[in-house]
Amino acid sequence: MSAVVVGHKNPDTDSCASAIAAADLMSKRGLAAEPFVQGKIAPETAFVLERFGFMPPESITSVARKKVILVDHSDRAQAPADIDEAELLGIIDHHKLGDITTSVPLFFHALPVGCSCTVIKNLYDFYSVEIPRNIAGIMLCAILSDTLIFKSPTTTDEDRKAVAALAALAGVRDYAALGMEIFTVKSAVKGVPARELLFRDYKDFEMAGKKVGVGQLEVVDIKLLDSVKKDLITAVEAAKLEGRHTVMLLLTDIMAEGSELVVCSEDADLAEKVFGLPGSSPLWLPGVMSRKKDVIPKLEAVFKK
Ligand code: MG
Ligand code: MG
Ligand code: MG
Repeated sequence: MSAVVVGHKNPDTDSCASAIAAADLMSKRGLAAEPFVQGKIAPETAFVLERFGFMPPESITSVARKKVILVDHSDRAQAPADIDEAELLGIIDHHKLGDITTSVPLFFHALPVGCSCTVIKNLYDFYSVEIPRNIAGIMLCAILSDTLIFKSPTTTDEDRKAVAALAALAGVRDYAALGMEIFTVKSAVKGVPARELLFRDYKDFEMAGKKVGVGQLEVVDIKLLDSVKKDLITAVEAAKLEGRHTVMLLLTDIMAEGSELVVCSEDADLAEKVFGLPGSSPLWLPGVMSRKKDVIPKLEAVFKK
């Protein structure tokens, strides 16, 4: 039985590309492995897969009694529900350390870089395994997506080096143009239900015993969201009523380099405590681009108090 390689819930391009790339690398190193996603892939990811000739990986919800490799997360809230009944072989990630533990040794490859695919690029190099052209293509797209074409504060030199090398392998001459194509696909929100938009790139966290969710929509122009904003606010309020202490939604304008924050919380002053800016939701936050770097640590610090 081959190992399941799977990224987080509400799969993004990195979760999907990392699963495909890690499964390829593991298989070539003698551990049969197959990529999966948890749930439906987003249009951006569908575009990237099609561009480089991949079918979307199958979706998986249960991993009990299976060998599993997790990519792009190590939080139980983002893993398959029965992850504790799986045999966890390893984790490849670029986030804060989550709360998954094991009773047996595992491999753990994590780097504080902009994308899990950057970690996997380094692993291919470390093991001297050649990266197939089409896999290089989707890894390249994942890094461009996760780093907001290098505009995110999560971007490192390792990501830039990986993009240069992967673009050459994939035969992509203008990676910035490819990045803009990806974000243009991501910006097409017309006709999509607000709830689907909220949960497309959404993560729940446990903070001081409370369930706190943060979603993010990254677009090339925040005006593209004007027509759906009212419905997004309603969707955030509805999600909060489903047993969450707080739900935040970041509407990130990658060109203006900031985010509008929609928040609904038990704590009416939470946004001001976290970001130090007075004002009511929705609130413009200049320079806030990254959930991982600009939001979660500050949010956790407030909940710890
Ligand atoms: Mg991800
Ligand atoms: Mg990632
Ligand atoms: Mg992201």
